[in-house]
Amino acid sequence: MDLQSFHRESIEDREGFWAEQANLIHWHKPFERVLDYSNPPFTRWFVGGETNLCYNAIDRHLASQADKPALIYVSTETGEERTYSFAQLHQEVMSMAAIMLEQGVGRGDRVLLYMPMIPEAVFAMYACARIGAIHSVVFGGFASHSLASRIDDATPRMIVSADAGSRAGKVVPYKHLLDEAIELAGNKPQKVLMVDRGLAPMRRIHGRDLDYAQLRDRHRQAQVPVTWLESNEISYTLYTSGTTGKPKGVQRDVGGYAVALAASMKHIYCGNPGETYFSSSDIGWVVGHSYIVYGPLLAGMATIVYEGTPVRPDAGILWKLVEQYKVTVMFSAPTAIRVLKKQDPAYLSAHDTSSLRALFLAGEPLDEPTARWISEGLGRPIIDNYWQTETGWPILTVAHGVEKTPTRLGSPGMPMYGYDVRLLHEQTGEEVGANEKGVVAIVPPLPPGCMQTVWGDDKRFVDTYFSSIPGRMVYSTFDWGVRDDDGYYFILGRTDDVINVAGHRLGTREIEESISSHAAVAECAVVGVADQLKGQVAVAFAVLKDPAPYEASQTRLALEGEVMKVVDQQLGAIARPARVHFVTLLPKTRSGKVLRRAIQALCERRDPGDLTTIEDPSALEQVRAALAG
Ligand code: ATP
Ligand code: MG
Repeated sequence: MDLQSFHRESIEDREGFWAEQANLIHWHKPFERVLDYSNPPFTRWFVGGETNLCYNAIDRHLASQADKPALIYVSTETGEERTYSFAQLHQEVMSMAAIMLEQGVGRGDRVLLYMPMIPEAVFAMYACARIGAIHSVVFGGFASHSLASRIDDATPRMIVSADAGSRAGKVVPYKHLLDEAIELAGNKPQKVLMVDRGLAPMRRIHGRDLDYAQLRDRHRQAQVPVTWLESNEISYTLYTSGTTGKPKGVQRDVGGYAVALAASMKHIYCGNPGETYFSSSDIGWVVGHSYIVYGPLLAGMATIVYEGTPVRPDAGILWKLVEQYKVTVMFSAPTAIRVLKKQDPAYLSAHDTSSLRALFLAGEPLDEPTARWISEGLGRPIIDNYWQTETGWPILTVAHGVEKTPTRLGSPGMPMYGYDVRLLHEQTGEEVGANEKGVVAIVPPLPPGCMQTVWGDDKRFVDTYFSSIPGRMVYSTFDWGVRDDDGYYFILGRTDDVINVAGHRLGTREIEESISSHAAVAECAVVGVADQLKGQVAVAFAVLKDPAPYEASQTRLALEGEVMKVVDQQLGAIARPARVHFVTLLPKTRSGKVLRRAIQALCERRDPGDLTTIEDPSALEQVRAALAG
């Protein structure tokens, strides 16, 4: 079938379409209704059906592949490398579940995870899924006040954590941050389960802190049956990246999510049982939830849990893992690829990556120069994925399991089945035509897998996502997009990343793309800065592939002029940035997204606002220094 017909069917006959996809997972009790949309925009999928994510991802495969690898753990930080078969993973999850049950964690209780990329994090997520507890993973290493606000929001019965993470060879102790956060939080968890990796000393709080190794020993043989959950019970909550402001607590169901992931593994990622999937993301993000932890195992694949950076011990490490584990499907982020772009391209061909069917990239616009660089260097197909924490799986991409649609550089592709995507005029709410810019919106009901609501705040769900387009209850992504004559979409940036220069509306993304096409530039960020004459002007911050030749202020100035000329030629003088500053680091969220709003605030001498999710605050200092200099 062609993708277009497949998509049409999914919208015209939602219930028929998703009833069929639902066969991809095991139902303990069949559902009574495929879809309940009686209370818009709230959507309930597979009503009355009973299933379990852990059962579908692990238990279900025991009969056919108990001894096949399920979880491959690689840490280039500590030098550990271990493989768990499905049977071993099954036992570890049951042991972890037994520990939780013994401590009084039950169905519907929250368990907050503040964990590095270690197998125990995955055990804990699956243990929650097994017993019907709701996990809330907070990115490991977040500062204590960010963690405290999430503890207050989730009110967990238990927290699972570790003594430390490690990043780029440096130990990042967690325990004192956790203790501080619990101190700050209004709602204190009764139990804290600590995994001791032996990386950093820990102060233990008597009666509250538990030792995982000790308890695991006691529950080594534990048998914990699956708790069957109604499809619409809550599987987890997870915060958005906080790129545009205060993070939103996304809440997800059980059955819809399982079906959506299983379907995406078949139609989009094309992974088969017995193969290996490698996502270089982190369990703290949605990609980690959907495509490290749940998706690959639902499809019977092994998943690689990787603790490390893309450049240690050298810039070939990701491809070395592909070769070693014969990875067939890989998932990474443009930000990781831009990091590699600053390294020797020879690393891309130093390993045999021929097992790789495709490399999927998501999380940020994949600019054309970066897409070309990686696809030529690696010689493997690159597939851009556009989606959000809120949706849990791709909105726009290509589905090679349905049809081998060609990809187009710079475009994430086309609407996926289940998503009734429209491009709408921001003010009138009318649909725009081909090649016209509009807000990427989705006509509800949202497909399975998407968020149910904002955790604990239905009103915020409706107000935030369904109230921004005048006169229509549609879901707004808050991203700009355009569709070409052939139906390919292009994402032009976030709706708040548009600048207005002397009456012309420009997407900062377009200017960034243009600047990135200069051979010396590795990556850049463009923001609109208030200007008395023009309303706003574009100001650029660029990171160079190799700053050494441009140390002298003379050559820097010349380079700035060259970059401006590139923009002039490609987009016109109106888009030319007023300044191009050179920095060695851009302010990014821990998930690798550029914090344009913070840069813009600094340019306008305003307070940069909520920075809880920033990766490296020194990047802001560089912006400040560049502006002052
Ligand atoms: P917050 O909503 O808290 O500000 P966030 O939007 O950065 O944070 P995520 O849900 O992690 O949090 O990111 C989703 C956003 O990332 C999308 O709305 C889009 O702006 C961007 N994005 C993701 N994938 C792509 C892609 N393939 N191309 C372009 N943009 C992308
Ligand atoms: Mg967002």
